[in-house]
Amino acid sequence: MTPAGMNRWILSILGLAALTQPVTPQTAAHSKRIVIAASSALDGKGRVLRNTRIVIEGTKIVALDPKAGPADYDLRGLTVLPGWIDAHVHITWIFGKDGKNVGGGETTQDAAYRTASNAWLTLMGGFTTVQSVGSPSDIFLRDVIAQGLLAGPRILTSMEGLSGPGEQTGTPDEIRAYVRKQKAAGADLIKIMASGGMLQGSKTLSQEQLNAACDEAKKQGLRTLVHACRDAVPAATLAGCTQIEHGLGATDQDLKLMAEKGTYFDPQAGLTLETYTLNKGRYAGSPYFPKTEEAIVSTNEKILPLNHELMRHASKIKGLKIVFGSDAVAGAHGRNAEEFIDRVRDCGVDPMTALVSANSLGAEALDMADQIGSIAAGMQADIIALDGNPLKDITAVRRVVFVMKGGVVFKNVARGAIPALTGFPSGPAGA
Ligand SMILES: [Zn+2]
Repeated sequence: MTPAGMNRWILSILGLAALTQPVTPQTAAHSKRIVIAASSALDGKGRVLRNTRIVIEGTKIVALDPKAGPADYDLRGLTVLPGWIDAHVHITWIFGKDGKNVGGGETTQDAAYRTASNAWLTLMGGFTTVQSVGSPSDIFLRDVIAQGLLAGPRILTSMEGLSGPGEQTGTPDEIRAYVRKQKAAGADLIKIMASGGMLQGSKTLSQEQLNAACDEAKKQGLRTLVHACRDAVPAATLAGCTQIEHGLGATDQDLKLMAEKGTYFDPQAGLTLETYTLNKGRYAGSPYFPKTEEAIVSTNEKILPLNHELMRHASKIKGLKIVFGSDAVAGAHGRNAEEFIDRVRDCGVDPMTALVSANSLGAEALDMADQIGSIAAGMQADIIALDGNPLKDITAVRRVVFVMKGGVVFKNVARGAIPALTGFPSGPAGA
């Protein structure tokens, strides 16, 4: 299906083809002033606010005023915080009708519904903004959600990524043209594949190619996210790229270079690998995955300790800006917050640091620090609440009982009612 055809088709399945003026939830929210009472709120920048009230008008927070009233939502006893930001997801990755992983390339009706489900699960899991890297069909989902036609997180997309090997990727001039083409097509950022997989392989793009990609993106006002392991890490850093993904094999010297250059770093602590293992029957034999379940598990067992070690090392590098990117794939959507638990439990990351990485620091990495990622007057009203205190027990991130995005409440369930919304898949190839 052509992109335009897909777009028309998505609108038609939603029964909205004839709608000339989208009625957004935001429109409805505009006239109303909403007051949220909180006994404990994390401001997203590392501070805890006690006994305050958050006043919202339209899509934004207009004040923090302990005397405001009456409270429309009483979230006292919960932990209130800004909606989370996941810097790296694959929102279109799904399990197909037979339960097996089909990756993110499908444009069938089934795939469109399942992708919409991923978006809904992600929002219910407390993530109000995600960055999706590597699928051209993200853009339709991004746009219908932005128009208020479908429940989901705010989406930023790279659409299709730039990948190696170098000689097939083109000359620096061709790469610059590619970046401009991506921008014209509506990409919010540029994703670059600069190295092979997690366990082996050196960089797949030359320094000149990386320089061209990241320099042209900067000229076009776009950020660059680079999948880089080993020698691709310093190469992408020196090329002035915005953010480095994964980073396995990076030395302490590479990490220090990133800190020095202000490059954001997005290593993972386990959610994706755990998802592959939990769903080994669904992933075995699917494109790019080992044929057997045993091979999936044994590969994960090799990579996971390397992830943990890298996260532990990176956390100790002074000034290194580590963001939260779960790399969520099929089976992980809605469970993105597991990555917080992995960071804290397995890598010794301090809970507040882990949470801030998905709030103000995550927003800064998206160049959206003036809009999202913290609770303060003037910010988008993206507010969630957890049943529990994640600073004392990080597993509280699993218990998201309240979700507001842009001033609209999408979830407000009774405390203790959470297990129904874990986003765990079920079906033919299930555990
Ligand atoms: Zn990824």
